[in-house]
This record gives sequence, structure tokens and C-alpha cells, in this order.
Amino acid sequence: MKFSVSVVAATLFLESALATPGDEKRLQSKQLRHAILRSNLLKHADALVEHARLSNGSRAFGSKGHNATVDYIKRKLDATGYYDTELQTFVYPFSDGTANFTAKEKKYSTEWFTYGPAGNVTAPVVVVNELGCEKANFLATVEGNIALIKRGSCEFGLKIALAGAAGASGAIIYNNADGPIGGGTLIKPSRPDVGPYVPAGSISGVDGVALIASIASGEVVGNIYVDATNEDRYTSNVLATTKLGDKKNVIMAGGHTDSVPAGPGINDDGSGSMGLLEIALQLPKWSVKNAVRFGFWTAEEYGLVGSEHWVVSLTAEQISDIALYLNADMIASPNFGYFIYDGDGNAFNITGPAGSDHIEHLFESYFKDAGLVSAPTEFDGRSDYGPFLDAGVPSGGLFTGAEGLKTEQQAKWWGGSAGVAYDPNYHQAGDVKSNLNVGAWIQCTKGFAHAIATYANDLKGIPRGGKRDAAKKRQISHDRRRNSACNHKLHGL
Ligand SMILES: [Zn+2]
Repeated sequence: MKFSVSVVAATLFLESALATPGDEKRLQSKQLRHAILRSNLLKHADALVEHARLSNGSRAFGSKGHNATVDYIKRKLDATGYYDTELQTFVYPFSDGTANFTAKEKKYSTEWFTYGPAGNVTAPVVVVNELGCEKANFLATVEGNIALIKRGSCEFGLKIALAGAAGASGAIIYNNADGPIGGGTLIKPSRPDVGPYVPAGSISGVDGVALIASIASGEVVGNIYVDATNEDRYTSNVLATTKLGDKKNVIMAGGHTDSVPAGPGINDDGSGSMGLLEIALQLPKWSVKNAVRFGFWTAEEYGLVGSEHWVVSLTAEQISDIALYLNADMIASPNFGYFIYDGDGNAFNITGPAGSDHIEHLFESYFKDAGLVSAPTEFDGRSDYGPFLDAGVPSGGLFTGAEGLKTEQQAKWWGGSAGVAYDPNYHQAGDVKSNLNVGAWIQCTKGFAHAIATYANDLKGIPRGGKRDAAKKRQISHDRRRNSACNHKLHGL
């Protein structure tokens, strides 16, 4: 509807008496929260379900399903005309596979290593000395045989490459604790400076010790069968920045667009990425004082690859222009909790850059005002906020839980089942739409809407000015992080 000239004039007159012109369109928390509708979130979930169908039920980075999700986000954002959008495209090595180890008729429970090569090897199993972190640990008897190596002290990738260098035909790493390793990565796609990777898998500590005892009393021939895909894939981050607002004080929010190969990832992280997308699609109804930027990250499941790639591409000035970063990764867990990243460090003793405390407290009062209990969760950089922490950007976010088990107390607070994982389908084929807790999803999405609207208006409590040292802590954190991604354990050593 168009206003007549006289109505516009009267409106402007009223506004000049009350506030600066344009303020009636200024973003407010309450209005943005009210614009978040269940029906729209569920439509996005339906779209992700369709995307996953394109690649056998997965949206792993660089797959058809994942590319469809990236296109969907970009297209929706472009259609608003409210954002400058950008695809940041790069190549990254993809890897997925399974490993099986059998010896003496026993089929071992075997885990595959990310970046482990495919192959089918039958040979005697030979025990490697010490921890297999040095060339000298591999005796000549290893040649042509399967090297059995104990976990510990150095990266799995180094052990497997040293086994290859010694001429082993395959390698098995057994855990240095009773149970299984619980998912491992060779970290680097190859190590030409050390040696070739050989078909490999890992077994539990109990199985490893028993196998060594068996070898001591006579030759044990084993078979390793690894089915794996290792290939370079093009993939993209999507960045969208409001055309309006102060670009020297950017409010950022991000979530990851990829799933693990095992499933469609509708909670992890369909919930976070689509919650933020819906906020981004409602935001154009208002104007913002500070610019708002959304980051939709690729390949989080391979070690925060997309977010790291983007943050590292920034100049020191571009980093200091980012006032804060909000991360949304898993916000619709079926057996959910309302967890807030512990930015002030008072619960887990890992404190974020100054201002992270303010973000945590803002989320705390959001839940309190809604009459809900919230709890802190460790601020350890195991999702896409890691690279922002390294760059010194105040960060925060919400999380409804992954493989951790709900306590009795938490079941009293939030309902659901004590002694059961917050998301029993975490990183599995069962991470589907029907397993989402939509109520938690809406509540958390509105929490992000509240934080975005609040900070887009007013950065009180967030330190501004002064350059941040982007590189200082990066290596330390990177080493810490690459042993675990996406709130799950993907061990590198
Ligand atoms: Zn995730």
C-alpha cells in the first residue's frame, strides 16, 4: 500500500518529534522473534530431506545433496535483495569408508580411519615395537605383512605412513584403553614425506592385547578389507551481509551446511543452518544499525574446514570489523537440553575473548525471561566458532546436545529421558526430520533472533576498537581442534 503525500508528511513530522526518521523500521528483538514460524522451519527441513535424497541419504560436503543445500541457501538469500551474498569456493579432500579386520575366524569390531586408502590385504600380523612413532620401531619382519601398532604418542597418520614406508601391506592400530578408539582420522590426505598409507583399521585395546598373546604362540594370518572413497571435491561457503548497517561493527552468525556421510544431518546441522536462514529471510522487514552477516559453512564435519578457510582469508582489519560471532550447531536434538556456550569460563574454565561472557549472559537472560532453565556447555572450539575464538572474536551460541547423556537433574528441567543421549541419532542415518524436537528448535532459533536483534542495535558489553591478533593462537587451537570436530570425537592420535 502506498501512502498519500500528506500522510507521509504527517508521519515524518511525528517521527521527527519522537525519533530519527526510519526508526520505526529499526529491528527489534520481539518483532524478529515473532516472525520465526514453525511452518517455515519445517519447510526448510523438507528441503534438506529432498537434498539428501540426491546423494543416498547424506549431505556430506561436496556431494550432490550438499551442493543442493548450498544452492538453496544462496538462492533464498539472493531473492530478498537485502544482502550482498558471496560463494567462497575451494577444493578439499573428501574421504569416507569402512574397514573390516578378521583373523583366525574372528571378525573384529573394526573402525576405519578418515583418509585411509581402500584395499584388501591378507598377510601375517606382526607386532610393531614401542608405539610405532619412529622408523626404528618397524623391524624388517614387517615387510609384506600387517603391522599391529599400539595407539599413543603420535598421530595415527604417522604410524600408518611409517608402516607403509617399512613395506607393510596393511596396518591395525589397537587402542591404549580397553574399548574402541571411537572414530579416527589420519588428519592429512597423504604423507609423501614419510611414506604411503596402507589399508588400515583400528580395534579395541582388549582385542589388541588378546591378538598379541595369540601371535606370541604362533603365526596369525589376518585380512584387512577397506572400502573407501578418497577424492578432491569442490565446495562452497555462503556469506551474506546486509547492505544496510555499519560494516565496521558486523554482527555475525553461522552454522554448517554439511552432514556426515552416514546420514542426512537434519539436526546436525540442518537445525542451526536453517534456523539462521529463516532469521536471515525475516530480517529484511526491518533496518539494522550494525550490519549483520550470516556464514553458512561447508565441511565442518571434516574439522571446521569451511569456517577456518574463511576466517584465515580475512585481513586483520576485516577481523576487527567483526564485533562478535554466534554459532548455531545442533539446536533441535530429540532429547534436548538448553545449553549455552560457557563464554565466561565459570563452568568449564575455558574463557572466550572478552565479550563472550556478555553473549553467554544475554542468552541466559533470554531463557530466564522465557521461564526456562539453561545450562553452560564447554567452550572448547569443537564447532565453527573455533576459528573465531582463535582470531580473538567474542563468540557464543546455543546447543541442544549430541552424544552426551542426559542426567536425572536435566530430565527434571527439560523433560526427556535421563541416561539417554541428547541426540541418539547423532552422526547416524537416523538424524532425520521426524527425530527433531521442533519445540527446542523454535526456542533456540528465537534465542538467536533475540541476540542478533539486540546486538544489531547496540553493542554495549562487547569490547570494540583495537586490532585483533588473528594468528597468535591459531596453531595451538588448530592442533586441539583437529582431534575433534562438531562436538564429536574424531581422534587424530
Ligand atoms: Zn555439527
